[in-house]
Amino acid sequence: MSSGGAPLCEMVDGHRRFGAVNALAGVSLSIAPGELLGVVGPNGSGKTTLFNCLTGRLRLTKGQVLWRGEDVTRWPTDRIARAGLVRTFQQSMYFGSGTVRENVVMALDIAHARSGGEHELAIPSDLEGLLAFTNLGPLADSASSILSHGSLRQLGIALALAVRPALLLLDEPAAGLNDAESRELGALLGRVRDSGVTLVVVDHDMGFLMPLVDRIVVLSAGRLLSQGTPAEVRSDPAVIEAYLGSAFTDTSPAAGPGRAPQETGVG
Ligand code: ADP
Ligand code: MG
Repeated sequence: MSSGGAPLCEMVDGHRRFGAVNALAGVSLSIAPGELLGVVGPNGSGKTTLFNCLTGRLRLTKGQVLWRGEDVTRWPTDRIARAGLVRTFQQSMYFGSGTVRENVVMALDIAHARSGGEHELAIPSDLEGLLAFTNLGPLADSASSILSHGSLRQLGIALALAVRPALLLLDEPAAGLNDAESRELGALLGRVRDSGVTLVVVDHDMGFLMPLVDRIVVLSAGRLLSQGTPAEVRSDPAVIEAYLGSAFTDTSPAAGPGRAPQETGVG
């Protein structure tokens, strides 16, 4: 976003090594309050490692993570979460036994016990409101173990929203979803952003990501290859060269004329 305000979260020259592998090799990026930032890149380019290092699950081997300008690089992950920086995982996470309603009740209880929720958000903080916001009302009394992939993903987001995050990181939220489920998830993420939660979304599915995001960051082999609006990234020569244009053509109405539609994801 070009609001010019102070960043909510920053990574400054982030490096993360695993033996000989440089999973992050000098990544600097800034997340503005209120934006919906997309992160793309082929498998192994460091997207999940970026999330792990931002949330303190993994330590940077060099560099810094700043939260509202404060150095949180060495903070334990629960302290970072309490400060408002929350992530979901590639796998759906929920309390395996119990109904949808019982899951959300448990998450709200945990959130209240941790006395979070000091952020100004238009996300409902009550059970029925949160169920309705995430379109889970009709499924409230269903066992969570029988939910479709799409509904499980919504439940994961409901549980994350129960703690009233300022910044929510979503790792491949559309993975395994069909087109209708992806569209519904995209609409939900738009509502989450419009309610004041800053979002960073990793995904391979450009058709899912491009229309949704304000800005996009492209990772390649642990480095930041490009960043900008979807249109800027799509026309960046470095991106076109790396991907031969395939992943970035015709995935939104802004795509140029004369290009064939592509279903291809990045990696
Ligand atoms: P992405 O999410 O973009 O697919 P990852 O961040 O998962 O990429 O991985 C980046 C690189 O770091 C890959 O080469 C991966 O094999 C390596 N890597 C990630 N996590 C670990 C780990 N815990 N131990 C060793 N290597 C890892
Ligand atoms: Mg990953």
